[in-house]
Amino acid sequence: MTQRLRSLTTDGGDQRQGPPSFESLSIMGGRPIFEHPRSTAGLYRPDFENFMQYSSTFIAQRQYTNNGPMVRLLELRLAELHRVDHCIAVVNGFWSLVLAMRVLAAPGKKEVIMPSLTYRRMADAVVTAGLVPHFVDVDPATLAMGVNEAKPAIGASTALILGVHPMVNVCDAPGLTRLAHSCSIPILFDSVESTVEMIEGQKVGSFEDAECFSLHASKLINGFEGGYITTNNADLADELRLLRGFGFQGQDTIVSLGLNAKLNEVHASMALANLDALPLHLRHNEDIYDAYSTELASIPGLELMSYSHGEATSFKTILVRLNREWGLTQAESLKVLNAEGIFARPYYNPPLHWEQGTRGAVSSATTTTDALARSFLVLPSGHQVSTADVGLITELLRFIGEHSQGIKKELSTHDT
Ligand SMILES: *Cc1c(COP(=O)(O)O)cnc(C)c1O
Repeated sequence: MTQRLRSLTTDGGDQRQGPPSFESLSIMGGRPIFEHPRSTAGLYRPDFENFMQYSSTFIAQRQYTNNGPMVRLLELRLAELHRVDHCIAVVNGFWSLVLAMRVLAAPGKKEVIMPSLTYRRMADAVVTAGLVPHFVDVDPATLAMGVNEAKPAIGASTALILGVHPMVNVCDAPGLTRLAHSCSIPILFDSVESTVEMIEGQKVGSFEDAECFSLHASKLINGFEGGYITTNNADLADELRLLRGFGFQGQDTIVSLGLNAKLNEVHASMALANLDALPLHLRHNEDIYDAYSTELASIPGLELMSYSHGEATSFKTILVRLNREWGLTQAESLKVLNAEGIFARPYYNPPLHWEQGTRGAVSSATTTTDALARSFLVLPSGHQVSTADVGLITELLRFIGEHSQGIKKELSTHDT
C-alpha cells in the first residue's frame, strides 16, 4: 500500500497527543489535532454485506433504474417510517423540492414564503421551479419560521408556504399547516433535517400537503445521493411520479411535461442498507450528543442547543450558541478549529437575504436572522466522529475559552 493510500484508509489513530498549549495550536504552526479532519457530515456506513445483498437483487434482475425493485422497496419502507400513504423517490433533495414546488404552487402566483436562515441553496430550488423567494425571519426559540413570521408575508401573489425544519428539533408544522389551510395556500415542508422526528404524536413526513427529504451521504439516511417526497394525497403522488420520469405513462405515452429526476437502484440499495442500520446510527448520535453535552456544560460562553431525550429525535447535529462570555467571534472560532482539522461550520451563514442576485426576491427578514447568523457553530458529529474525538474537541474548546484574548491577538496580527 502506498503511504497516501494507507493514511486514507486509517480509522482513528490520527490524533495529536497531549493537552493543548498555546505553542501547539495549529494557528501557531503546530500539528493539527486531527490529521484526517472531522466534519459535520453524517457519512453513515451500513453493513457492506447488507448493501451487497440488496444490490444483488437488481443485478440479478438486470433492472438498474426506471422504478426498479430496490426503489419500490425503499419507497415502501420510507412510507412506513413516516406513516404516510405515498413516497416518491427522486434523484436528490434539491429536485424533490423543485418537483414538489412545481406541482403544488398556486397557478398564476409566484411568491414562496420561506425562512432566510436556512439551507444555502434553497432559493435556487425556488427559482429553478420558476418561482420567487419571499424571505422572512425566524422565531428565536425554534430557529425556524413559525406562524408569526409567515403570516404577515401572505399576500395576493403568494403561491406556496415552504416550512423548513431547523437542524435541531422541529418547526411548528401543525401551526403552519393550519395557517396555510385558513388562507387556502398550498404548503410544503423541507424536512431534510427532521427525518425521524415526531410533532404532537404525528410523524414528520405525514404533514400536508407534502414533505421533501434528502438521501445525500451527509444526511441521516445515506444513499450516496438521493431524495424523496412524502404525501397522503394520491393525485399529487401520481403527478409527481409522472414528472419524475419524463412524463411517461406506461411504455411511451407522454401525458405531461417531464424531466428526469429518477433515483437509480444502487443508490436505493445503499439507502435501504442504511435504513436497516438507522437504530444503530441513532444510538451513536445520542452517545456523541451526550459526550458533548457533559463537556460543554462546564465551558463558559458555549451553549449546546438541546434535544429532548423523551421525543423521537436524531441527536445528529451538535449546534452551539456563542454567548457573550465566549471571547471569540464566530469567524475567529472557525479559523482556530478548522486549522486543527475540526471542520466546524457556521449555522446557515450567510442567510439567504444577505446574498444578492436572486432575481425578484422579496424580503421581510430582519433582526432575528441577522443576529443569529453569526451566533452559532455546528460541531463535528456523525459516523466518523467518536466519543474520544469529542473529548479532544471539547478539550480544545475549553483551552480556547480560557485563552481567547491571546488567540484573538494572534489572529489579528496574522490578518494584517
Ligand atoms: C442538503 C439539503 C437539501 C438538499 O439535498 P440534496 O440531496 O443535497 O440535494 C435541501 N434542504 C436542506 C435543509 C438540506 O440540508
